Amino acid sequence: MLDRHIPGVLRFHAPKGDLVPVVFDSPHSGLMFPPDFGSVVPRARLREAEDAFVNDLYGAAPQHGAVFLEALFPRTYIDPNRAEHDMDPDTIDGAWPKPLTPGQKSSKVGSGLIWRTCHPNTAMYDRKMTLAEVSNRIETYYRPYREALREAIAEVHSKFGQVWHVNCHSMPAFSSEKSPEGRAGVKRPEFILGDRSGKTCEADFTNFVSDELKRLGHQVILNDPYNGGDLVVAYSNPAKGIHSLQIEIKRSLYMDETLTVPNGGFDRLQRNLTKLVEAICAYAQRRVRNA
Ligand SMILES: [Zn+2]
Repeated sequence: MLDRHIPGVLRFHAPKGDLVPVVFDSPHSGLMFPPDFGSVVPRARLREAEDAFVNDLYGAAPQHGAVFLEALFPRTYIDPNRAEHDMDPDTIDGAWPKPLTPGQKSSKVGSGLIWRTCHPNTAMYDRKMTLAEVSNRIETYYRPYREALREAIAEVHSKFGQVWHVNCHSMPAFSSEKSPEGRAGVKRPEFILGDRSGKTCEADFTNFVSDELKRLGHQVILNDPYNGGDLVVAYSNPAKGIHSLQIEIKRSLYMDETLTVPNGGFDRLQRNLTKLVEAICAYAQRRVRNA
């Protein structure tokens, strides 16, 4: 596997040394704003939606033999963690050529494939998107990212017969009115692991990651309220040995959420996540050896 870089779109970090059957991806830490974005929301406010620094927190993954993929564009431009048909028809000027199914927890609250609003209920655009604009975002950003992830998972799976995909995110310390809790002000735990209640990976893996994080001194909740977005559903198939797990980290553990800068907790969390990466890579190798 070779390092790959599509400027402004994605960076694919190939493993250094021997490959292990683990793929990490960070779909929401991109901050390169495409010139045709055209949102009326100031950049500082758009960055509040970013899973800032998550790419740095897991930056050690390739050193431990895992593949690591990061998106370079902001999720508010187009969200790679949404199904392609999860779009609000009201955001588009004209009729989309394919059927759309706006999701209850995504498009319906303004954050589908192309975001309609950002927190707190601010319109993203003062116009409708043209069909050409939406197509360009899908073809130039969304599909290359999804395809790079799909290929990496497939390649590792074909080599080892099993693969563990870890989908890396962060979440605000408190819910907003757009959040899955359905109301603002609910305090989040330090970590939430999402496997769609056992549908996207074996319970053994979820429990392993949960136990490791607890051993490192963290508080962990499973599937509530974040049970896993589209990227853990899209390529996983636990019966065939393809496991995907979503990890949400509470942002206040490592950053100032208003200024989008690391806080005093960053270094400790990065060290702990490096230990977690190491433990996951060892777990996957053990599982493959004992298969
Ligand atoms: Zn995210």
